[in-house]
Amino acid sequence: MTWIQPTSVDAVVRARAENPEAIIVAGGTFLGILVRAGMLEADDWISLQDVRELTRLQSLGDLSIGAMVRHRRLELDEDVRGIWPGIAAAFRAVASPRVRNVATVGGVLADADYASDPPSMLVASRAVAEIASVRGSRRVPIEELITGHYSTCLEEDELITRVIVPRPQGPAVYRKLRTRSQEDRPSSSVAAVVHQGTVRVVVGAVSDRPHHFADLCATWRPGNEDSAREIGAGYAERIEYIDDNRGSAAYRRRVVAVEVRRALMQVSS
Ligand SMILES: Cc1cc2nc3c(=O)[nH]c(=O)nc-3n(C[C@H](O)[C@H](O)[C@H](O)COP(=O)(O)OP(=O)(O)OC[C@H]3O[C@@H](n4cnc5c(N)ncnc54)[C@H](O)[C@@H]3O)c2cc1C
Repeated sequence: MTWIQPTSVDAVVRARAENPEAIIVAGGTFLGILVRAGMLEADDWISLQDVRELTRLQSLGDLSIGAMVRHRRLELDEDVRGIWPGIAAAFRAVASPRVRNVATVGGVLADADYASDPPSMLVASRAVAEIASVRGSRRVPIEELITGHYSTCLEEDELITRVIVPRPQGPAVYRKLRTRSQEDRPSSSVAAVVHQGTVRVVVGAVSDRPHHFADLCATWRPGNEDSAREIGAGYAERIEYIDDNRGSAAYRRRVVAVEVRRALMQVSS
């Protein structure tokens, strides 16, 4: 087994190009579970632990979040809480402080677990991932990065280096529904962000990836309960739901109608 700890993004992408089979380790919260459960074995590992440039968090203009920024930092950072409260709320909703102290932004996006909190808010906030490889770098909106259950559009040698979130022009609301315990993953995850008078509602954790329906959002009349109800019913209708131990498909369909309506009323107030 080999374990390498490069100190720069350049060194990481070179190492990945030489050995695309090597597994990137960020916080290790997801990988640790897979290894302990015997679901993942690998000979080669590349740790991002010592790559200082990936830990940068900058809030001048747009928010730039390095891939190794921990959830807990986004939850507590004063600028993030003040200017991007929806982002702070979505990361604060993850698990427990113990997990949030370790889990990273790059990790939650790359593992693309459907039952995650941050993706719906990142999509609603029009966030973009910056991705690097030896071929250069590219930017991909989060809604295109996550393609399905545990799958992304990342090439096997690519690394997420940072996430860029535009400065908000309006309020944001994040609603997480837990069905088992306070530290549980979401049964449904609804983010609503207002941008220049229009709303973007994104529903996650109920299907293989986050869903956004621009045509439904375009009908929104702020503060109008009937409008919020109709949009909620539209989201409930259009998504193909999954059954899991956090709720049946039928339950989730009903919950989404209510959670979307509540998010729209909350973001109007
Ligand atoms: C007990 C527990 C409870 C949890 N509850 C919640 C919850 O309520 N809500 C929620 O949203 N999440 C929850 N999670 C999930 C947790 O947030 C994820 O495990 C975490 O975000 C993964 O981050 P990590 O840095 O630990 O990733 P790692 O485990 O290090 O990596 C995850 C995957 O991403 C890849 N990877 C990591 N970084 C990069 C990168 N920069 N570029 C490319 N690939 C990369 C790795 O190779 C691996 O495949 C929970 C996890 C645990 C253990």
